[in-house]
Amino acid sequence: MDVYGLIGRPVEHSLSPPMHEAAYEAHSLDARYVTLEPDPDRIGEAVAGADAIGVAGLNVTVPFKQDVLPHVEPTPTAEAVGAVNTITFDDGAPEGHNTDVAGVVRAFAHHDVEIDGQSAVVVGAGGAGRAATYALADAGAETFVANRTVERAEALAADFSALGVDAGGLAALDERVPEADILVNATSVGMDAPDTSPVPADVLHEELAVLDAVYSPLRTKLLRDAATAGAETVDGAWMLLYQGVAAFERWTGVDAPVAVMNESLRDRL
Ligand code: NAP
Repeated sequence: MDVYGLIGRPVEHSLSPPMHEAAYEAHSLDARYVTLEPDPDRIGEAVAGADAIGVAGLNVTVPFKQDVLPHVEPTPTAEAVGAVNTITFDDGAPEGHNTDVAGVVRAFAHHDVEIDGQSAVVVGAGGAGRAATYALADAGAETFVANRTVERAEALAADFSALGVDAGGLAALDERVPEADILVNATSVGMDAPDTSPVPADVLHEELAVLDAVYSPLRTKLLRDAATAGAETVDGAWMLLYQGVAAFERWTGVDAPVAVMNESLRDRL
């Protein structure tokens, strides 16, 4: 039996176990997916230990996505983003991937949203903001990142200067969003207080495609406002789904049963 796992703190309410186990069942794979909460001071030992005992693959979530970097060989994408959410244990050192980037790109592709040559705005400069900004800029969008703490957005833009990323504070949304084709919310706004949105409703418009990384609730205020404005809406479960799809495909080498994984996820949201 192959054992896969998720390391993070907390992980008990993660939706990844049922999503991945639904995929194993659909492909008749003899595999299990477990959640683990390693000691934050022993994260290197946790990765090496998983390798030593033959764990087939790991997902990594908050707060360890940056912490595992020194303990893996990062792919160029994971290195650029500065975070790892998937580890493969093949020959040699454990390899660190960032499938949140693929999650963003494939969520838009699923909705037939073109990225290359478009103008994109990302709100948020934390972990999800870094992944979304890199995903969009690397896929050819002219990308602006807006963040409450403007210094954090500027630091992100400096890291991605080769991709032409520009940055500012939340006030810049008033002039950036009306000109944009793509908008991503990568802040946690809308999660704990469902009637809050990081973007004023009156700047949304029908030419926009809006992805909200928040997936609980699924229909955030931002997405409700976007729908009212006539925009295309992409909920956060699509990003969550496709980062899992990309991890599954890295680990197993076979196409993921996307519809099965999607159903398993949405049954629980
Ligand atoms: P993080 O690293 O802690 O970053 C949080 C971000 O939210 C920062 O940009 C922060 O701005 C901003 N923020 C927080 N409260 C705010 C407020 N009241 N007003 C304006 N901005 C505020 O968190 P993360 O890991 O990037 O996650 C962000 C969200 O994305 C979470 O809801 C998470 O669940 C979701 N997410 C979804 C997926 C998916 O697959 N769908 C994947 C990853 C994350 P400051 O820098 O100013 O503090």
